[in-house]
Amino acid sequence: MTQEANRVRSALSANALLFLGRATDVLAADAEAGDPPMAREDAVTAAVLIQIATELALKAACVREQGLRSILDPSEARRSDAEVVARIEGNVKVDTLTFERLKESSKRQGLFGLNEDDWGVVTSFQTIRNRLVHLDFNFHPADLYDMKWDLLHMLVHVLVRLLFVGTRSPEAYRDAIGDRFFKLLDWGPYEQHLRNWVQLRDPLVCPACEHSWFHAGQLRCMRCGLSYDAVACGVGSCGDCASPNSVLYDKLNRQADGRHLGRCLRCSKVGLFPVA
Ligand SMILES: [Zn+2]
Ligand SMILES: [Zn+2]
Repeated sequence: MTQEANRVRSALSANALLFLGRATDVLAADAEAGDPPMAREDAVTAAVLIQIATELALKAACVREQGLRSILDPSEARRSDAEVVARIEGNVKVDTLTFERLKESSKRQGLFGLNEDDWGVVTSFQTIRNRLVHLDFNFHPADLYDMKWDLLHMLVHVLVRLLFVGTRSPEAYRDAIGDRFFKLLDWGPYEQHLRNWVQLRDPLVCPACEHSWFHAGQLRCMRCGLSYDAVACGVGSCGDCASPNSVLYDKLNRQADGRHLGRCLRCSKVGLFPVA
């Protein structure tokens, strides 16, 4: 990534985090009320904030993985990265691709570890948002009840993952999203929603939220969204606690003796592990 592209990525991510934080506050305030249907005003506000954050996060993720060109309209092709950044910083209009275009191309290329189901979540979220924001439907209380789960699911499993996929340090992940996000996940009915959504056979303890919702096969915590990139991260066995698939190791951090730096999500050992 060029220095200019990194500046754009960093600004997009910072803004996405800002809207993510505000959406978290709205959902957390609603969760404090317990488990009634969501207040319509809260649902509208949270949906708009999550949409803006997701658009920014998708752009940031595209720039991170594929460079600045990947988000620009073809009409900008003749400008260098430095020219584009100078225009952005000088408040001169730069044409970027629409969210729909970026979404379709990311989906087609299987980027950011998001699968068909995850992109399906985006599509249903957009339908809900359109109903909430543009068409002013009268929502049935049951719709507004389900909406808490729909919005939270979109926040955790699409938005947060777009921003943090490939983050190798759970501590850095926690610091970046902040305690209020993790506090929101303590909302009582969330655990029940998770159980209705996915059954994990042999879950591991997530190093970020410390709950047993980590899916070794998908390299992802189904509770807080912490996810690892299969290119950089592998799964191995732990000699200390004799678990066959509990060590997440850094494929790119191989020592001279062949061992890899890793972390066991069963017994919490952090250190060097032999990898078969
Ligand atoms: Zn977690
Ligand atoms: Zn272990």
